[in-house]
Amino acid sequence: MTQPTCTKCKKQPSIYHRPYSGERLCGACLASSIKDRVQRTISRHDMLQHDSRIALGVSGGKDSLALLNILAEIEEKHPGAELIAVSIDEGVRGYRDESLTIASRACKEQGIEHHITSFADLYSLTMDEIATGQRELAACSYCGVLRRRALNQAARSLDADRLATAHNLDDMAQTAILNLLRGDLNRLALMHPGGRDLPGFVRRIKPYCEVPECESAMYAHLHGLEFQSLPCPYASEAMRTDARDFLNRMESKRPGTKNIVYRTALKLAPEARRTGVMGSCETCGEPSPEPKCRACQLLESLAS
Ligand SMILES: [Zn+2]
Ligand SMILES: [Zn+2]
Repeated sequence: MTQPTCTKCKKQPSIYHRPYSGERLCGACLASSIKDRVQRTISRHDMLQHDSRIALGVSGGKDSLALLNILAEIEEKHPGAELIAVSIDEGVRGYRDESLTIASRACKEQGIEHHITSFADLYSLTMDEIATGQRELAACSYCGVLRRRALNQAARSLDADRLATAHNLDDMAQTAILNLLRGDLNRLALMHPGGRDLPGFVRRIKPYCEVPECESAMYAHLHGLEFQSLPCPYASEAMRTDARDFLNRMESKRPGTKNIVYRTALKLAPEARRTGVMGSCETCGEPSPEPKCRACQLLESLAS
């Protein structure tokens, strides 16, 4: 049996079938269609200006390294724009140290400035200490809040006007389902991939949000990107795992489901997106909608 030919270039043998579009693609056409999609996402949501200074959160996983590769190429076409990589060292021995080495190497190879900032420096605490200490919530809950704040602080201190993260389509669809299950419309609104301008926050953008996880994996593989594939030892988001399994089942029966879930979620809360009163935290001075920011609340609960 011969390999079907790529439906795009009609020359090379296809290596990848996209059930939701019916396309069969060769490696080169798959990679270029992923890049085109990122570019279209950026334009559709007005994510960048020609002179944007972009801080990209790079964890060392496949998504952030693939996006680093793609944004580096886009940035080259815009001489006024700048790209800087930012990594957060949460202090998870045997996991984060390895991914940081991978991230540093990737940045060096591409000639991109790389900054690392750590929970230990910012909060005098590591995730290893948080995970083994007394706490009320799952370790991931602390990590998520503290990492978001660390990324914002790092991007701000680098004078970046955009903070890009490599959330993929699967992440977005899972978050949409989780927010629906929790009845949290405000969080649905925060999912908007173009971000918002809020005082004290570097605008967060998600240029990778329409790329399915399996295509991201193919992109990393096609480019020979070395990435960390181990899950974090503290990962324990049981509800997210349920949402992932559910979406994967639905997607295989009804291709395109993840995309529909993601797009519908964005339509659900357009109003909330425009609001957003922001003051500053009375403890740390970081921007916060409440008198005390979530990071300080969690840090105090750990100290008590
Ligand atoms: Zn092709
Ligand atoms: Zn605070």
